[in-house]
Amino acid sequence: MPRPIIALTSWRHPRAARDGEPQWTDICCGDAYVRAVAAAGGAPLVLPRLAELDAVRDALAPAQGLLLTGGGDVQAAVYGAQPHPRSGRQDPARDAMELEAIAWARKAGVPILGICRGIQILNAALGGTLIQDIPSEVPGAMQHWIGGDADYLGHEVAVEPGSLAARALGTTSLATNSWHHQAVREVASGLRVTARTADGIIEALESSAGEPILAVQFHPEMSFDAAPAFLGLFRWLVEAAAAR
Ligand code: MN
Repeated sequence: MPRPIIALTSWRHPRAARDGEPQWTDICCGDAYVRAVAAAGGAPLVLPRLAELDAVRDALAPAQGLLLTGGGDVQAAVYGAQPHPRSGRQDPARDAMELEAIAWARKAGVPILGICRGIQILNAALGGTLIQDIPSEVPGAMQHWIGGDADYLGHEVAVEPGSLAARALGTTSLATNSWHHQAVREVASGLRVTARTADGIIEALESSAGEPILAVQFHPEMSFDAAPAFLGLFRWLVEAAAAR
């Protein structure tokens, strides 16, 4: 059986700065996302960060699954907020491309897995809002920009028993990495929370309406070699894509 094609969103990376201005840009997608999709049995296909939305739709046509990758902050305007001073690294064209890809996938019934920025743009796309900077907006929150080695699992996440996230991960309690300063604030209608850290920060969302949608705030692609439970999220995506 052929591997299902999983489209991965990408971003623009400035190169060869001169006088502080990039001379050209590259299209980038983390190798870890590509490797995780392949390890889970999918055929990864990187969707270029494109400004032409009809080209986005046409390029997505062969995709059977959609992976929304991590990256910079979603523009506050996407969810009707004023930008926070600590919000940064925004790319309006990437926001537009991913909003188009999400709308396309939902209309086509194509499964969506969101990771980090992916959970955020997904929540915003469906009408939710974001915490723009955890340290300055959530007093008492634990450290969520932990960094360290890519596979360092710095905080514990509690997963709702019986949820899609719990089934995909094969557990209701796991340690994860954490590389985010933003998070989901108001959950969009059509989504529900299925994992949190002890400080209440949302670490997973899934559809409450039976749509094939799953998203996490941590980075399973960085840790699936050392902790195989994380590969379960990609297996869910690939199996849901194959079942269409
Ligand atoms: Mn976190």
